[in-house]
Amino acid sequence: MAEAGSFAEKVKQQADIVRVAGEYVRLKKTGKDFSGLCPFHQEKTPSFTVSPIKQIFYCFGCGKGGDVYNFVMDMEKCEFPEAVKLVAEKCGIAIPRPKERSPEERKENQQRSLLVEMHREAQSFFVKQLEGTLEGKAARAYLEDRGLDKETTARFGIGYAPSGGDALLRHLKQKYNEKLLVDSGLVSRDPSGRLFDRFRRRITFPISNESGKIVAFGGRALGDDQPKYLNSPETPIYSKSNVLYHMDRAKEGIRRQDFAILVEGYMDAIAVARVGISNVVASCGTSLAEPQIKLLGRFTRRVIVNYDPDAAGQTATERSLALLLEQDFEVRVLALPPVGSQKADPDLFIRERGAEEYLKLLKESPPYVDYLIARARKMDLSTGEGKLRAVNFLLPYVQKIPNRILRSEWATRIAQQLRLEEPVLRAALSKAATERRSEVKTRPELVGRAAKPVERRLIRMLAEAGGFQLELAQHLQNARLYHGLETEKIFAALVIASLSGEPVRAAEVAAALEERDRRLLFEILFEEANEPSWEEAMSCIEALQHRQAEQELAEVQRNIEANPPGQEMRGLLEKKQELMRRLAAAR
Ligand SMILES: [Zn+2]
Repeated sequence: MAEAGSFAEKVKQQADIVRVAGEYVRLKKTGKDFSGLCPFHQEKTPSFTVSPIKQIFYCFGCGKGGDVYNFVMDMEKCEFPEAVKLVAEKCGIAIPRPKERSPEERKENQQRSLLVEMHREAQSFFVKQLEGTLEGKAARAYLEDRGLDKETTARFGIGYAPSGGDALLRHLKQKYNEKLLVDSGLVSRDPSGRLFDRFRRRITFPISNESGKIVAFGGRALGDDQPKYLNSPETPIYSKSNVLYHMDRAKEGIRRQDFAILVEGYMDAIAVARVGISNVVASCGTSLAEPQIKLLGRFTRRVIVNYDPDAAGQTATERSLALLLEQDFEVRVLALPPVGSQKADPDLFIRERGAEEYLKLLKESPPYVDYLIARARKMDLSTGEGKLRAVNFLLPYVQKIPNRILRSEWATRIAQQLRLEEPVLRAALSKAATERRSEVKTRPELVGRAAKPVERRLIRMLAEAGGFQLELAQHLQNARLYHGLETEKIFAALVIASLSGEPVRAAEVAAALEERDRRLLFEILFEEANEPSWEEAMSCIEALQHRQAEQELAEVQRNIEANPPGQEMRGLLEKKQELMRRLAAAR
């Protein structure tokens, strides 16, 4: 990953993993290492360990481990290049400006930054309209009526697009050319070629990308204008399937609490966020798209879906559920009870019942399967056909659960809850529970493997011995000493790394291993150990040779007992003699 001579490598050499991890975890010095409560899993006693000497971390509880970049990637749920940037920033290392590859690219970058700038100007224009005009006054009254006071309006950058039809256009025209204005999506062109404002007589909500730059607007009609909600079109800086409303401000809370609340619209997100529940995002009218789920997945795998209770909201809930399940999210559904005779969205519910009540229901919100079963039970279950419809409604979701055991548990529960006596339906359910198009592999047995001490010592020496790593690797390879060992793959990877002549980067070697080998390597790296010496290495190698000879001898003995024809038997007996000599000499 961090190639020699690269910027990433340079940053890694200067960065201190203890300092970086220390920003997220309270670390205490324990011996040579530091330890603390693991940020990646729930625990009461610290099993998260950081080594300042090796510049790696490992959690003995959940098995996460690696170098400073692995840590930041896991923590921030980001990709490698972003991790390098973050670590560089944390350590005060200047980041080289990326080279622009072609004139077209430079032009596109320029266009994008102009569009971002234009959105910033539109934003202050809309805010001024809300605050300082007569029309804006009516809009303010509407907002106040919805419980949005001045403070909230300011906090979420809510503004107003006047009804005139070209107010923003006239404002922006002074600075930007027509093409750019149309590209921004803030201005439209009618069939006759005339330009006009896209947003007219609407409350405006700035939509920011993940890093907090305004890239689009949502507009809610003030009167009965249709559509009720109007968003920016797709532009070079905005793709609606890539953006979640409020993500820029929610991500910290989502990471900290390890779950996100997913609501439908910006009004809902604002209603939830303004009462202090910050980990809320909105899919913005459309039902969830895969890139949005991927974005969310960088911060958490747990979601509570709280869509509107109307038919459209239910459909959106169910569609989103299917997508979230496919991406292996743990999903719960909050279906708010009606307020009086009104079906309640989060906005209405919090206004009428308060944040406390909302939080309570949030905590109690059931797993999605319970929600779906409740939906199915509302269908007519008195007839066989009705039950079949209910089962057919549920089956696709059951099939989307990646875990087979969970699937079969849910199948049983569905059968009980829907009182399915019909063998046909039960059979359909259990078939769905056993089948899945892309069966996920069961995790290999992770614990309970103890490599022999000699192997552990040699692995440790290969991973960090200063002076004699290369010789040791050559020795091990020439004598084929690690072949057939349980730790063979770890040895092989370390030997290859050592033979390159470069210092071994243990965390990178580990990253390329299978899970159980990866964990074992980290555990070995964090063991208490003396300074390695060539003498100790040699005695470990002798012990391995000895073990190898013993195993060979046992094998030869088995073959002899099978009593093969003369020629072969002679060969075996000679081999036995030689092995016994070797073993005797080693004693
Ligand atoms: Zn852990």
